[in-house]
Amino acid sequence: MNMTDLRDFIDVQLQGWPLARANYQALGRTRRRSMVLGDLTVGIQHNPARIVSTGAKTDASSISSRPCFLCKDNRPAEQVGIDIVPGWELLVNPYPIFPTHFTIASKTHQPQAGFQLDMITMAERLPEHTVFFNGSKSGASCPDHLHCQAVKPHELPLMRLIAERHLPEENGYIATAATLGLKMPFDFRSVIITPNALGMELLKNIEVILGREEISSGLINIYVWTDECRRLRIVGVPRRAHRPSCYGDGAEEHLVSPGCIDMAGVIITPLEKDYTGLTAENIEKIYSECGKNPDMR
Ligand SMILES: [Zn+2]
Repeated sequence: MNMTDLRDFIDVQLQGWPLARANYQALGRTRRRSMVLGDLTVGIQHNPARIVSTGAKTDASSISSRPCFLCKDNRPAEQVGIDIVPGWELLVNPYPIFPTHFTIASKTHQPQAGFQLDMITMAERLPEHTVFFNGSKSGASCPDHLHCQAVKPHELPLMRLIAERHLPEENGYIATAATLGLKMPFDFRSVIITPNALGMELLKNIEVILGREEISSGLINIYVWTDECRRLRIVGVPRRAHRPSCYGDGAEEHLVSPGCIDMAGVIITPLEKDYTGLTAENIEKIYSECGKNPDMR
């Protein structure tokens, strides 16, 4: 799909869908600030509408007692799906974090699990987008229904940093925060796949490279995109926790539930007190509890 088709898709959906239109319009009024944590510049976004995701109860009994909002029968009447890859539908996310924010939902109700190789086809069909996947214990607010999301890579500080610093001719095809000499509050694996025998070999072993244990336990965030040199890029952020110890809406707590977007450097705060109150120290702690630590050199 080209960018004009995708923009038209969003525009048509917003024209006929008051809830989504109101939330996209509200995005223009969201407050943002940023802070520097080592080599990662982290944005903080005050986005009250995201309470539906950040505050979602993800325990088994809460999940089983609510209708699944990604199943076609339960979706809002206005929401239209586009066939993008066999078995998956592209949907406009009605609770956006960025002006372009898609959900890509499986056509069947099945758990958020494994590494979805279809993400590679999605990334090829959605040029100029990063397709990402929250493991079931890594920020997914709907872990019972398999889904990915897609946004523009320039919105994500971690993708910008990796694209700038992980150059295959200097660093090889597999890199971590440490091998790139980055000062980071959490670690990642970055893999560059080129269309040759080496690329095919890397792709065959991608689960081992990203972390088979993390993938099988749902403790990973995965990002896939094609860069301007038409190389396929895959990044995994291994996780140790779904939510940080400070999670909550109490006076001393913070309602932050890191998924792919937060781990990529944009922290979403539905509550104003967290937006204004979070310090660099708080955010470093959230990252170090949810991610795995590299050396903070
Ligand atoms: Zn479902």
